[in-house]
Amino acid sequence: MGEAQPSAVHHELRINSYGHYLRRRFGCRVSKVNVDAGFTCPNRDGSKGTGGCIYCNNVSFSPRDTQPIIPLEDQLTAGMSYHRQRLGSEKFIVYFQKYTNTYASADVLADLYRRALAHPDVVGISVGTRPDSLSGEALELLTEIARDRYVCLELGLQSGDDAILERINRGHTVDDFVGAVKRSAARNFDICAHLIHGFPGDRPEEFLKNAELIASLPIDSVKLHQLHAVEGTELAAMYRRGEFVPLTLEGYVATAADFLERLPARVTVQRLYGSAPLAIRVAPQWGLKNNQMWFAVVNELRRRGTWQGYLAG
Ligand code: SF4
Repeated sequence: MGEAQPSAVHHELRINSYGHYLRRRFGCRVSKVNVDAGFTCPNRDGSKGTGGCIYCNNVSFSPRDTQPIIPLEDQLTAGMSYHRQRLGSEKFIVYFQKYTNTYASADVLADLYRRALAHPDVVGISVGTRPDSLSGEALELLTEIARDRYVCLELGLQSGDDAILERINRGHTVDDFVGAVKRSAARNFDICAHLIHGFPGDRPEEFLKNAELIASLPIDSVKLHQLHAVEGTELAAMYRRGEFVPLTLEGYVATAADFLERLPARVTVQRLYGSAPLAIRVAPQWGLKNNQMWFAVVNELRRRGTWQGYLAG
């Protein structure tokens, strides 16, 4: 049990926030700018599975050969302008978020990543992918880019329980994730683990074991959010049949605080909340903004007199 907050943990926030990490690293406000680079997903096209994860919004799913409608450079310009005006951001990380952003040949990946890095205000890239879709060539490419630019590889674990992964049609196992982290380690780029809490059968005490799994691996940051159902998904259908009962806000805040207490202070926290546009949001309907969830969790840690890593071994 920690007796004093470690220096990595922000004094007021009680969390090692990724935003502060970026500010320390780059000396200014850095924002992530999302781009849709036209990738698809092997858990839909049959190479790993079909149908996709039960929470994935397949209404907006693009067929494999579809190109993004808006050129990458135009997406970047619009995204950077938005963050400059809204947050005063000076530098940017281009976030390849949508679908599986290493699911293409090394030549295609190199072209996309280099185009993103070409803008003088872009300090690096963040690449979201599945742990079973990381070729040796993709890893080598990211390693090469990381020699002089910032790179974050975001690996979707979602749940550390194979039974849940199977139930949500995730199409990979916990071992796949552990193997991908080990192959990605010691390459001079950050590794982020993406987790979701609230799957059917996902009990809080079981979910907390994810903190131990992350602590045991060379993982630099985490993204956590509640499971939410959006239109066009199997999860929304399950909700309407009464087979998916969303977490309560109070329950999620308590478990997020429990999770952070067990998460080592060295791991930065990128996110604690997931939101969806009102038009497709089904459940839960918490109606919070990102920072409201962030401060709900911070206030819970304050109330307890604890902080990130308080119970970490
Ligand atoms: S891996 Fe990602 S993109 Fe693919 S089906 Fe699952 S959530 Fe959707």
